[in-house]
Amino acid sequence: MTRWLAEYAWLPDHAEPTPDVLIEATDGRLTAVTPLTGGGAPAAGVEVLGDATRLPGLTLPGLADAHSHAFHRALRGRTHDGRGDFWSWRDLMYSVAARLDPDSYLALARAAYAEMALAGITCVGEFHYLHHGPGGTPYDDPNAMSAALVEAAAHAGIRLTVLDAAYLTAGVDGAELVGPQRRFGDGDALRWAERVDAFRPADEHVRLGAAIHSVRAVPAEQLATVAGWADRHGLPLHVHLSEQPAENDACRAVHGCTPTRLLADHGVLGRHTTAVHATHPTAADVALLGDSRTGVCLCPTTERDLADGIGPARRMAEAGSPLSLGSDSHAVVDLFEEARAVELDERLRTRKRGHFAAAELVAAATVGGHAALGWGDAGRLAVGDRADLVTVRLDSARTAGVPPVGVFFAATAADVTHVVVDGRTVVADGRHLTVDVPTELRDSIAAVLS
Ligand SMILES: [Zn+2]
Repeated sequence: MTRWLAEYAWLPDHAEPTPDVLIEATDGRLTAVTPLTGGGAPAAGVEVLGDATRLPGLTLPGLADAHSHAFHRALRGRTHDGRGDFWSWRDLMYSVAARLDPDSYLALARAAYAEMALAGITCVGEFHYLHHGPGGTPYDDPNAMSAALVEAAAHAGIRLTVLDAAYLTAGVDGAELVGPQRRFGDGDALRWAERVDAFRPADEHVRLGAAIHSVRAVPAEQLATVAGWADRHGLPLHVHLSEQPAENDACRAVHGCTPTRLLADHGVLGRHTTAVHATHPTAADVALLGDSRTGVCLCPTTERDLADGIGPARRMAEAGSPLSLGSDSHAVVDLFEEARAVELDERLRTRKRGHFAAAELVAAATVGGHAALGWGDAGRLAVGDRADLVTVRLDSARTAGVPPVGVFFAATAADVTHVVVDGRTVVADGRHLTVDVPTELRDSIAAVLS
C-alpha cells in the first residue's frame, strides 16, 4: 500500500478543497480517502503512519486532456510570420505532417506527452489522423503511427485513448484528399474500420476510440459506418464540430443543414460522443447536443490562437452537454489556463462575471475529460478510482496567498510539483522522472523542421 498526506485535496462533489486528507492506494487504485479532522488529528480508526508521503499544496485528481494532436506541438510560436492566420498555421502543420515517420512521431509525441505529465495531465485523448506513409501508402503495419503513440505515452507515463480518426475527403463537397492530406485517408469508412479493427493494443495504459475528423472529412453517407463501429465496440466517438463558421456555411450549401443536424440525422450524437470545439452552434444545435447528452470538449487556448471564436459553454452545459477540456494544437499545454478560459471567455462575450463555479471547472478538467475518453474509473479522489494525484504548490509567486479554492484562477502548469498516475510517481518536485522534457522537445522538433 502507498500513502500520501495531502495538505489540501479536492474531493468529489465538494465546492472547495478539504484540508489534511490521507490518501491510500494499492495496485494503482485508491483504497481510502480520509479527511483528518480536528486540526490534523486522525479521525477515529485512522492511524497515520510515518511512511505517508507529504504533499504540500493542493492535490487534485488526474487532469485529462481530452483533445490532442501531438505533432502540432512542433508549431508552437512558429505560425506568426507577418501576422499569421489560420491558413499560414495550416500550411506549416501540413509541412510537419509531411515529414513525420513512425520514429520521429514517437520522439515528438513522447516529448509532448511528457510535457503534459509535467502539467498534471494523467490521461490524453489523441485525435489521430496521420495514419499512412508519404502519398498515402500504408506502412507494413498499417497502424504503425498509432503504435508509436502508444509507446510514446508509455514512456511519458500517462494513459492514452487513441481516437482513430476517419479522414476521407478534403471538403464537405467530397473533394479528394491532396498533398499531405493523402497520408490521412483510408479510402472509405469500411476500410477505415478494417484498419482500426486490426489495432488492438493490449497495454494497460491504452484504450481505443473512434473519431470522425469533421463533416468536411467524412461523407454524410459514411458517417453512420464510423458511428456504428464505435457503438458496436462500446467506445468513445469524437468529432470536430463547427470550429469555424465556414464549416457551417459549406455544410448548409451541400446538405441544407448545420453540421450538428447532419450528425444527428446520421446517428452520430449521443452520450458516448464528444463534439470538439462546438464554437459556432445555432440554438437548435445546442438543444440537439444537450438533449442527446453529447459531450463538448472546449479548447479555449487553441480557439484563441486560431481566432476561431468563443463557444457558448454555459448554454451547452445547461442544455445537458457534459464539458471536457483539450489543449488541441498545444499552443499552450496548461489545463488550468484552459479551465479558467471557459469562465473568462464567457465574461468577455457577455460582459458579466460568474458563469461557472470553481468545482465545475475542476470537473471539466478531471472527471469530465476522463469520461469523454472512456475512462469512467478516473478523475475523482474516490475509493475504487485510479490512483491519479496532481499536486499544485501554493507557495509559488503565482499561488502564494491564494486560497486553495482559487487555484484554478491563479496557478499555471509550472506550479504542478507531484504527479502520480495509476499509483506510480511520474513527476516529483516538478521534474519528470524519466524524460528530459525541454531537451527532448527541442531535439524532436528540430528533427521535423530542419
Ligand atoms: Zn483538433
